[in-house]
Amino acid sequence: MKERIAVKIGSNVLTRKDGMLDVTQMSALVDQIAELHKNGYEIIVISSGAVAAGKTELKIKEGKLDRISSRQLYATIGQAKLINRYYDLFHQHKIVCGQVLATKEDFSTRRHYLNQRNCMEIMIDNMVIPIVNENDAVSINELMFTDNDELSGLVAAMMDCTKLIILSNINGLYNGDPSDSVSTVIREIHPDDKPITNIIQKKKSSAGRGGMQTKYNIARKVSEEGIEVIIANGRTPGMLLSLATDEDVVCTRFLAAQREISSIKKWIAHSDGYAKGEIYINAGAKEVLLSNNATSLLPVGVVSVKGDFEADDIVKIIDDETGLQIAIGKTAYSSKQAADAIGKNNKKPIIHCDYLYIEK
Ligand code: GLU
Repeated sequence: MKERIAVKIGSNVLTRKDGMLDVTQMSALVDQIAELHKNGYEIIVISSGAVAAGKTELKIKEGKLDRISSRQLYATIGQAKLINRYYDLFHQHKIVCGQVLATKEDFSTRRHYLNQRNCMEIMIDNMVIPIVNENDAVSINELMFTDNDELSGLVAAMMDCTKLIILSNINGLYNGDPSDSVSTVIREIHPDDKPITNIIQKKKSSAGRGGMQTKYNIARKVSEEGIEVIIANGRTPGMLLSLATDEDVVCTRFLAAQREISSIKKWIAHSDGYAKGEIYINAGAKEVLLSNNATSLLPVGVVSVKGDFEADDIVKIIDDETGLQIAIGKTAYSSKQAADAIGKNNKKPIIHCDYLYIEK
């Protein structure tokens, strides 16, 4: 089987300090992607940089546009600039690339999701490299992804990638303040390791929206779905080639959990933002769900139901005792039917195990 890798390139890798596109850097990354492509790797690029690239093209008077409008405007210009650059750079290697612009909505229904997946499968089948970005011109406020790290996790899961490489301008996740000389890069994170959020830098780069916190959250989530995730410095020469061939370079590797997850469960796993309600469960149901057996959620284990949902909507499963989310799934009941069935025996599952994703 061919190795399929999602490569997320952050704005801070692609832009210089003055905000201009760093074409030398882009070119170095495209050279590496081209080499991997020629060696049979299937590469999907998730590239930021549209808003940053657009900002340097227009001088807008301070206060003339609000934050959202200026972001939309910059994205329209910057995305065109960005994709033109990619096109030219790949063209020099006789490789064709194509643009995929996604919005959060495109992942909200299974149908949209499959359309999007199909589009990228066709591109890959025809040796076209997908260059994915959020459609920043129309994605605003709650319709936006947290950042492109979130989008890259969705794409890696959707496309069944073997690896997700998140390239930033930092060597990886540090065990302290990266500017402190005693801090070092955490080289490996195992799916069973305890969360280490307390040492993660809250500071964000000026060029993009993401930060180490979302990178960590996404990396944990995606690695728990069985995909290795690597956070590395995209400005280090040859980094991508080293990572693709598993060379031992400085970076943070989130090792993949050994579990096979169906396509539909991967979609459900990333559907938190589309959940229409919450189902609270008792200790017995929690124990059954967290056992490693494939189990469904039955009405007998439900304590209460919140929200207004229909059958086939996405709902979160919450542990009634702790208030923590332990699973997410596609419900077979409406909220009314679920409420009526609470505590009852001999009923069909509220969520069948095939449509239930248990968080680790
Ligand atoms: N989609 C945004 C852009 O291309 C970047 C979002 C992010 O920084 O993660 O400018």
